[in-house]
Amino acid sequence: MHLFWHQRDLRLHDNCGLAAAAASDTVLPVFVVDPTVRKAVGDRQWAFWTSGLRALRSQYRKCGSDLLVRTGDPATVLPAVADEHGADRVYFNEHYRPVRRERQRAVEDAVPTEAVTDLVLVDPATLAPRYENHSRFYDDWQTREKPAPAPTPEADGLADVSDRQEIPEVSADIDLPATGYAAARERWERFLADGIETYSDTRDDMRTAVHRPENAVSRMSPYLAAGMIGIRELWADATERYDAVDGAARRNVEKYRYELSWREQNYNLLYHHPSLPKTNYTTFPEAIAWENDPEMFEAWKRGETGYPLIDAGMRQLNAEGYLHNRPRQNVASFLTKHLLIDWREGVAYFQDQLIDHDPANNAANWQWTASTGTDSVDVRIFDPVAQMSKYDDGADYVTEYVPELRGIDPETLVDWPTLPDDERTALAPEYPAPIVDRNEAYERAQRVFETALGKR
Ligand SMILES: Cc1cc2nc3c(=O)[nH]c(=O)nc-3n(C[C@H](O)[C@H](O)[C@H](O)COP(=O)(O)OP(=O)(O)OC[C@H]3O[C@@H](n4cnc5c(N)ncnc54)[C@H](O)[C@@H]3O)c2cc1C
Repeated sequence: MHLFWHQRDLRLHDNCGLAAAAASDTVLPVFVVDPTVRKAVGDRQWAFWTSGLRALRSQYRKCGSDLLVRTGDPATVLPAVADEHGADRVYFNEHYRPVRRERQRAVEDAVPTEAVTDLVLVDPATLAPRYENHSRFYDDWQTREKPAPAPTPEADGLADVSDRQEIPEVSADIDLPATGYAAARERWERFLADGIETYSDTRDDMRTAVHRPENAVSRMSPYLAAGMIGIRELWADATERYDAVDGAARRNVEKYRYELSWREQNYNLLYHHPSLPKTNYTTFPEAIAWENDPEMFEAWKRGETGYPLIDAGMRQLNAEGYLHNRPRQNVASFLTKHLLIDWREGVAYFQDQLIDHDPANNAANWQWTASTGTDSVDVRIFDPVAQMSKYDDGADYVTEYVPELRGIDPETLVDWPTLPDDERTALAPEYPAPIVDRNEAYERAQRVFETALGKR
């Protein structure tokens, strides 16, 4: 018998490690609640995962097996479970977050193991450790063969066990989407039916994001982060569609496949630079003069900066545990540039709030937006006024999340941070005044980053 150690891969379908274990012997699936890893997961995401664990367990039970759930250090728990059930080897999927890599290495020291690539389409160990920018990464990555989805194990290949250990009920402070593979698949089917063929055209349009949220973007990120659906399965479906359509539909589907390559690059970065969530990827000759003002940070977190697009973004994050990519980039830029608050503060806040928190995507995107990462532009600053004018000129997104601003003409809302104080107060007495001046903050950020880069 083999053990399969489930981590961030809460599914039976297209699970490479599970399939590899089942290919050579009966498999006993185990999940270990590891207190050290648990501390690194936000409460909302943990609630989403525990609900997903229950869905996974019921899938195993339908197959006449069970998911063993244990608590403790995996390097102690897994050898004990293996002993108890006469298992000779522990299979697991490689996970790249430093805390998980440490646990995996400790398990490897304690018991015979087989580590399998599953989380990404291309094993980062086979790619270069550094690419100049995303285009260079993409040029190399897109030539690599992408594996087909892994086979789902047969019911009679799973151990005939039953486990009485309860999975803890964890509540969240927000409504969570449905969890588990079936929910992920359903979401994906809906996006395939109405979404992927217009993806490139709608992905940045905040009007579509508000009125047809499930068609504008895929919303697969919470499921991918939990491993409730496999990346090969998404890739295979998207590729099949790409091959079946032409013209605009094909261009749109291709964009979706292209976006997945960012995730792959971020895992490549994390794999080769495990300190990515903690240290600047780029080397600066001078230290960046962060201001780190605690009151500004609190205003940003609450969505009370007086910048409509930023506040809408932060309020969506706080209310839903999810944030559309366009405002995600804007709130991150605003924190690190307009407010000069260290990107690591943003990483930590997102980790707490997001249900799709992903260690590679979060760290790499924060670094990209903060201009400490892989961006080919030296100092990128998103202007929240220009961004709203381009992507939310009807103020659909802003008024969805900032009720104080409802009923105000959208053109006025686009220019909001530049209006005279008395005009703003008359229109929206409850809404805070901008906490920084748009132009001064922009110029200050430019100065600080150019100084750190040794260009002044
Ligand atoms: C500051 C910041 C922090 C972020 N933190 C996370 C995070 O913790 N977890 C996370 O999954 N994504 C993160 N992203 C990337 C991106 O915002 C989300 O992946 C996307 O918004 C998720 O929604 P979706 O699944 O509907 O995306 P879609 O637009 O439908 O894209 C499909 C999939 O492609 C991948 N993808 C799309 N854009 C990116 C990107 N820029 N980088 C990497 N992968 C991408 C994701 O896997 C996504 O689920 C972050 C972006 C920024 C700017």
